Amino acid sequence: MLTDSHAHLDDPRFAADKEILIQRAWDAGVRRILTIGNGTGPDDMGCGIPVAEAYEWIFTSVGIHPHDASKVEERHFELMERLSEHPRVLAIGETGLDYHYDNSPREIQREVFRRQLKIAVRRQLPVIVHTREADEDTQQILREAGVSRGVLHCFTSSAALARAALDLGFMISFSGIVTFPSAGELAEIARTIPADRLMIETDCPYLSPVPHRGKRNEPAFVVETARFVAETRGMTLDQLAFETSENFTRLFSPPKTA
Ligand SMILES: [Zn+2]
Ligand SMILES: [Zn+2]
Repeated sequence: MLTDSHAHLDDPRFAADKEILIQRAWDAGVRRILTIGNGTGPDDMGCGIPVAEAYEWIFTSVGIHPHDASKVEERHFELMERLSEHPRVLAIGETGLDYHYDNSPREIQREVFRRQLKIAVRRQLPVIVHTREADEDTQQILREAGVSRGVLHCFTSSAALARAALDLGFMISFSGIVTFPSAGELAEIARTIPADRLMIETDCPYLSPVPHRGKRNEPAFVVETARFVAETRGMTLDQLAFETSENFTRLFSPPKTA
């Protein structure tokens, strides 16, 4: 049983064949997908709900991506509060900081990140965190917000940030990037993360793992990342699939407060 802990099934690149690729994921052994509720921007954060309602094994989240932080109005936080009560919504995110692209001013990214963490803490929901070239601020904001349940998704940061996240109680999730030959340092981090803190994801349609690199990514390809991480850690694919699925359950399934 494989789990894709992070996909963007609402992406327009999936519009034409969504049912087919969901079936392909099932046939590849994927038994759970978390499709991220960012959509085309803050007005669209409920984008994952229809597919999560249609498939018993697909779940979703609601969040504002740091790229979209400058589009946020107060009503979007109200929308997030309201949608977070939907039974198929398991988390807040992805949210976070992206100082690589800087699509929104950093001060606004930080503020929008803090506001979402506040909602997560109040609603007792885990957070899905996107962080790029913002290690210091990410750590500091997470610590100040008092969040202890979450995941650093598509992890590409330093070993120091991984350690800080583990200290907070977070999971670390690896995408297909870890399979790239240039990602040796990342593979070393994936090798040493404690077994009860490890998750895997596609982040599709982006970032196809080897041997699909350069093509559109899809949830079925999570098996390639699983295979690579299992090999790196000296364990079987089945064992890795089992452990990462258990971690997903532990992070996202605890009872929600009504
Ligand atoms: Zn991300
Ligand atoms: Zn993503």
